[in-house]
Amino acid sequence: MQFTTLIFGAGSVGPFASRAFVPAFITAMMMRFTPQYVSWISDDMATVASDAPSWFTSDISLLIFGLLAALEIAATKSPDLRAFFREVDQYIKPVVAVITYMGITSMQDIDFVQQATQHAGFADALPALMIGLGVFWMGTLRSGVLGFFIDADEDDDTGVQGLFSWAEDVWAFFGPVLLILFPIVMLVLMGIVAGLMVLAQKRAQAKEEKSKTACANCGEMIYGSAVQCFACQTPTASPNALSFLGRSLAEPTPDPQAHPYKLVEKKRCPVCATRFEKRAIHQSCTACGHELFNDPIFANAYLARSDARLPIVLVVSALFSLIPVVGLIPGVIYYRMALIAPLRKYIPRSRAILLRWSIRIGFFFLIMFQWLPLAGGLVIPIMALVNYTVYRSAFKAMLDPQTE
Ligand SMILES: [Zn+2]
Ligand SMILES: [Zn+2]
Repeated sequence: MQFTTLIFGAGSVGPFASRAFVPAFITAMMMRFTPQYVSWISDDMATVASDAPSWFTSDISLLIFGLLAALEIAATKSPDLRAFFREVDQYIKPVVAVITYMGITSMQDIDFVQQATQHAGFADALPALMIGLGVFWMGTLRSGVLGFFIDADEDDDTGVQGLFSWAEDVWAFFGPVLLILFPIVMLVLMGIVAGLMVLAQKRAQAKEEKSKTACANCGEMIYGSAVQCFACQTPTASPNALSFLGRSLAEPTPDPQAHPYKLVEKKRCPVCATRFEKRAIHQSCTACGHELFNDPIFANAYLARSDARLPIVLVVSALFSLIPVVGLIPGVIYYRMALIAPLRKYIPRSRAILLRWSIRIGFFFLIMFQWLPLAGGLVIPIMALVNYTVYRSAFKAMLDPQTE
């Protein structure tokens, strides 16, 4: 086992924490077509690579990696598909990272390969295992940081997650290039990124924990924005207000009557403020057992509050819409966050995809007129109204019919 190979393996953890197939494809391409740059990994690499492609750099494997990399990039561009792949990709990434590492070690000189196959044991498997674990650890760290944005903005109404996804594509694409050209720079950069992510996660956790207070009756730690203790149902003196992103603030809520509805708008339990995990209208709180929207009075009041926001949102989005071209993006983000998100968060993903695409096709024609200054003033309010009507009726249909 050569030390330089281990450096490559360690450096590959960074890009593989973001994407599985993009770094594998770039690594295999460089091994195959620019062998002069990879020769530092192993003395014999350059000659082996140019003489005969190994299984890792063969035409077939380049084709497969290339196709999977293209699919991977496409799949991470939709919030719905991203959510689907988040469930599986934390296991795929370490596996592909280990395959890539084995692809590189298999390209080293023949003696080494023979030795490895004859004495294949724990010592050879150890670096591969470490890389797999490293990718899994860094991938978990990444999910934690992304989770902060996902909790606050599940359907990516602000577009922040989309931007992040493009940045990660760049990282997964150029990371292996950087690693092969300047291995030490890559290792240092990776250390900095991992350190920043650990810090960001620690801070987010500390903030959430700091907002918790001990229940006056039973002493359990409860969220600052909770209305009641999840364990003993003792009401809190005054629940704390929620931030725009749904976190508990330090000051008490100005409107205790409306507070349970505000918690539900941020996808938190109206009683104990625990976050709801599922995209479903009827679900029970994992901490206190509260059955969401089981009370028809609460459900109708939630919809009524939502309806009351509609006129204001229409006026504000008309103002955005009057600004040709530039007004479109902030206007759309605004009505989505203010009007659509509190309903869409509870609509199951399969249903939401269908609704999203049917609306999108209709809007394609509307957007073509937004550049006209006066006609443009109507485009965003029409988009807001159509979206609201569609998601409201889907939401209503999923509540029990008796709530009418
Ligand atoms: Zn209690
Ligand atoms: Zn609860």
